[in-house]
Amino acid sequence: MKEFVLNNGVKIPAVGLGVFRVEDANIAYETVKMALSVGYRHIDTAMIYGNEEAVGKAIKDSGVPRQDIFLTTKLWNADQRSGEIQDAINSSLKRLDTDYVDLYLIHWPVKETYVSVWKDMEHLYKQGKAQAIGVSNYNPHHLDDLLKEASIVPAVNQIECYPYLTQEDVISYCKSKKIYPQAWGPLGAGKSDILSNPVILALAEKYKKTPAQIVLRWNVERGVIVIPKSVHKERLIENLNITDFELSVDDIAKVSALNKNQRLGSDPETFNF
Ligand code: NAD
Repeated sequence: MKEFVLNNGVKIPAVGLGVFRVEDANIAYETVKMALSVGYRHIDTAMIYGNEEAVGKAIKDSGVPRQDIFLTTKLWNADQRSGEIQDAINSSLKRLDTDYVDLYLIHWPVKETYVSVWKDMEHLYKQGKAQAIGVSNYNPHHLDDLLKEASIVPAVNQIECYPYLTQEDVISYCKSKKIYPQAWGPLGAGKSDILSNPVILALAEKYKKTPAQIVLRWNVERGVIVIPKSVHKERLIENLNITDFELSVDDIAKVSALNKNQRLGSDPETFNF
């Protein structure tokens, strides 16, 4: 299993399982258990996904020691606005049935609080409730503002990123500050034709891999953590098994050239929830 090392020395598996839109508790439970049984050691959830309890139970029942699993959850916008950050993480930990998460992220840069809430994040990090703290959907200007006030540099910035939205500027900014970029929607979130794009199909043929494996491998080779979502065993295995081949520099560039700045999710500059 390929791992990256965050700016505080904590290791994170390069591929994780995302569980957004897996609201059904039984499906979430079975999916996480199946993922752990086929080798996943990194799970990405969030309070707003409504499945923390199922995720926690699956981890408990999996037989995999808690300390071998990298578990992420996120601080929702309403909890930023209310200022109840301690309550928010305590409730998440309770639902997840664990004493700590490996990574706690600010889910979105809420206009009024995206800087001030970082002090609370630093506090819960010092309490040991999160092994690492980070942000999500932050653009460089949000991070510039945050870094002026921060005593701890965010370990991760989780952003939408797939070959039609390569996010070169955000990624190079993050790397310059030692913030690990992490890609959400790395397969195009089931809303894009990226997996049938002719360039991706040709590379899949060339490397004898699937289109999903090419797209995930492209991000990992750029030093970007990926958290693809699937609830199907074959796809879980396929998405995890991307470490036995390497794309050439030219082929990485071919994938990057597909960029058209096409967002499938909300824009951090205009979201309103
Ligand atoms: P994704 O890019 O992972 O796409 C998932 C979809 O791709 C699946 O529903 C399925 O339709 C398809 N798929 C999965 N494996 C496949 C395969 N091997 N071959 C063909 N098709 C395949 O999209 P996502 O779920 O939106 O993003 C991944 C994770 O990122 C989420 O589950 C969540 O954990 C996280 N996320 C975070 C934010 C954020 O604001 N921080 C927003 C959205 C998602």
